[in-house]
Amino acid sequence: MRAITTEAETPTGLVRRARKIDRVLAQTYPDAKCELDFDNPFELLVVTVLSAQTTDKRVNLVRPTLFSAYPDPKAMAAADRAHLEQIVGPLGFFRAKTEALLKLSAALVERYDGEVPPKLEELVTLPGVGRKTANVVLGNAFGIPGITVDTHFGRLIRRFGWTEETDPVKAEHAIGALFPKRDWTMLSHHVIWHGRRVCHAKKPACGACPVARWCPAYGTGPIDPVEAEKLVRTEGPN
Ligand code: SF4
Repeated sequence: MRAITTEAETPTGLVRRARKIDRVLAQTYPDAKCELDFDNPFELLVVTVLSAQTTDKRVNLVRPTLFSAYPDPKAMAAADRAHLEQIVGPLGFFRAKTEALLKLSAALVERYDGEVPPKLEELVTLPGVGRKTANVVLGNAFGIPGITVDTHFGRLIRRFGWTEETDPVKAEHAIGALFPKRDWTMLSHHVIWHGRRVCHAKKPACGACPVARWCPAYGTGPIDPVEAEKLVRTEGPN
């Protein structure tokens, strides 16, 4: 298979190709979803903050203990620091993460009466909450479409030739213009799942990739099907 080139691609051609890739990814990963477990917006906000520099699986293991001790912002804001540090200890950076949770919970209690606000502009004013976290919470806990530009998403959209933007906010807007808003949250899941399972940072499994036909970066990793298949992860590593 020869890699496609995007040099002569029209804006309409780009939209069509981008949506085709997303449709194929949707068929490939019908179970794609947020890989962090949560029961409500507060839990998702907290576990997303905790997922920095660690894996979703580790965060999912800590979650039951954390929320049985501190089920809401009020309880978490009043938490014993040493106890909280002990719970989040397995995730690394336990002092910084404990500090982040205490500040975040206190801000929710003081400014939002203990509720997570369902607005991007308000979420990003909370301590430790950036656009990426805010979009995860909006899209998955509130059903408000959001594009999550994490490390996988950023790498794949550039490999796909959807945009050359490296700035996450500019990338978010560039990709938002290619897809209907209602598709943004699931698009994020499809792309991130593909990044975790097939299109790895160091050695993408190009020879086993379902969207290779439409990818200008085909050949970045091994194209031999047998070699490529060995690189595919059936479950995300994080
Ligand atoms: S695995 Fe290869 S062909 Fe597939 S999306 Fe990534 S770079 Fe493109």
